[in-house]
Amino acid sequence: MAVITHAHTRPETDYYALPATLQDAFDELMEQADQAGTTDHFLTLMARAASLTGIRLPASGDIRRCACSCICGCIFDAEDPDAHVIEWTDGYNLGRLQCPTCHDRHSETA
Ligand SMILES: [Zn+2]
Ligand SMILES: [Zn+2]
Repeated sequence: MAVITHAHTRPETDYYALPATLQDAFDELMEQADQAGTTDHFLTLMARAASLTGIRLPASGDIRRCACSCICGCIFDAEDPDAHVIEWTDGYNLGRLQCPTCHDRHSETA
C-alpha cells in the first residue's frame, strides 16, 4: 500500500500512521534523547528516530512529536520557525512543542 505523503516540503510525518512497533520504538528513542547526556548522543538518537519513522532529518537534527492537547501525531522539525514552544522543561532535553499546523490551527484560541 502506498504511503500518502503531504505535498508540502516540511520534514513531517504522522505518528499514528506508523505501525505500533515503530511507535513504541520512537517513544523509546525520544525518552532516551530526553535524558541524553551529550549532544552527540542526543543527535544520534534523533537520527535513529528519523530513519525509523521515515522522516527526512532536518538541518537542526532535532525532531519532535507534537505535544498539542488535540489528537495530533505530527512528528516535525523541532526548530521549524513556525513551531510553537508550549513549555521548556528543566533538566531535560526535550521541551514541549506544538507543530506548525497546530499552531496555525489553534492560535486564535491560545
Ligand atoms: Zn500538532
Ligand atoms: Zn493541535
